Amino acid sequence: MFQKNTKVVCTLGPASDSVNGIVALIKAGMNVSRLNFSHGTYEDHAKLIQNIHKAESLTKTRIGILQDLQGPKIRIGAMPEEGIHIKKDEVFTITTKEITGERTKNKIIIPLTYKNICRDVKTNATVLINDGLLEAIVIKKKKDELVLKAKTSGIIKHGNGINFPSSTISAKTITEKDLKDLEFGLKNNVDFIALSFVKSKKDIEELRALIQKKGKNTPIIAKIERHEAVAHLKEIIKSADGVMVARGDLGTDIPPEHVPLVQKRIINIANKYGKPVITATQVLQSMVKNPIPTRAEISDAANAVFDHTDAIMLSNETAVGKYPAKAALVLTKVAHSVEQEMQKHEELKEFTFSNTQKTRSSLIACENACDLALRAKAGAMVAYTDDGFTSRQIAKYRIYTPIITFTSSEKTARELTLVWGINKVFVKKFQEDANKKLKNIVDFIAREHLVKKGQKIVIICNASSTSTISTYKL
Ligand code: PEP
Repeated sequence: MFQKNTKVVCTLGPASDSVNGIVALIKAGMNVSRLNFSHGTYEDHAKLIQNIHKAESLTKTRIGILQDLQGPKIRIGAMPEEGIHIKKDEVFTITTKEITGERTKNKIIIPLTYKNICRDVKTNATVLINDGLLEAIVIKKKKDELVLKAKTSGIIKHGNGINFPSSTISAKTITEKDLKDLEFGLKNNVDFIALSFVKSKKDIEELRALIQKKGKNTPIIAKIERHEAVAHLKEIIKSADGVMVARGDLGTDIPPEHVPLVQKRIINIANKYGKPVITATQVLQSMVKNPIPTRAEISDAANAVFDHTDAIMLSNETAVGKYPAKAALVLTKVAHSVEQEMQKHEELKEFTFSNTQKTRSSLIACENACDLALRAKAGAMVAYTDDGFTSRQIAKYRIYTPIITFTSSEKTARELTLVWGINKVFVKKFQEDANKKLKNIVDFIAREHLVKKGQKIVIICNASSTSTISTYKL
């Protein structure tokens, strides 16, 4: 098996949702499973969670579960089965009325699922339908209708996504459906909750309050897919627990040629604050149909690893594609190959010592521990952590010294599945006394042969509170 530090997130769907399908993905390198709440019933999701747990026990591997809330995605309403074909320069109307779309002699009328569109969108605004395959412009506004002129031709079908890149959509980020889905997710102990179409840190704070009201503190992943979020990246990333570069919707809300630069900025800010970052969407799109990816897709995935993403996500490739496990294995091989190379070149791997925040003693302690591990040529960095802070903070330095984590919390262990380089996690309760705890950790590492005899290890305990750093020779 190819060892890798970069994590692989796989969206589960009809192509991969059986126990066997999930086991195959785990064997191919999946670390986190994504449940897409834009599709499926609660029954489907409950079964899927059951299957993930079965696959975890069969493979003795922890797989994080990420619940992806749909958010206020605007879609085309009821349409004839075959859709409606729109020609370039043709004029058509979108309506907020609940009708079935139709083409008559005098008019083409198409319903959409969002009621306030006429209030939010101005004349001359751009409209992108079905991931931008059809582009149109608003030429007239009425009370509950927008009249559009097509700039390209294409077919509009029921459920197609519709984006308004130059407009600010006022719909609440957390919808009624999201509230019900959240309740389901929390009841079923998902490990992460991804919030779609985040506009500002207020959305994160609102979700956090809802989670806390249910007595939980499940980490929140902010999906960046709106131009408003791009304008507030730093505050969103600081207030969330992780971030996703959701390139699908992002590439329709901002010019697609801006996406690579925004991706680099998001990864850079997330690295700086020690927040796990997922690079998502169309990563190996051609593998939905083909058994091998294009060279360009491999290069895109490799560049995300070079840029220090924590994780890369597959969507359709593993949910509905013909080769789910092969796609996951491609990412595993790419991550392995790039990381092998990066370890050899100081200028490629040591990036965060200058980049990182050093405003708190806890952060300085983590940086010192990494510095010490490099100078001592340690065989391992050992983190003892309650909530995962210490592991996340040392991982962000990407020093390539293997990291061993000890925590008393299974919840923390599951949350670390998304973090770069955190592969060896042991859920163990050691004695409170600092010296006894250190001795127990060293004894465990020696007994389990986690580090070769004669090698040094650097141990950092609870950086966010007491923070002790020690060095041992095995
Ligand atoms: C995206 O738009 O890139 C994304 C990950 O969101 P979704 O797949 O939920 O549309």
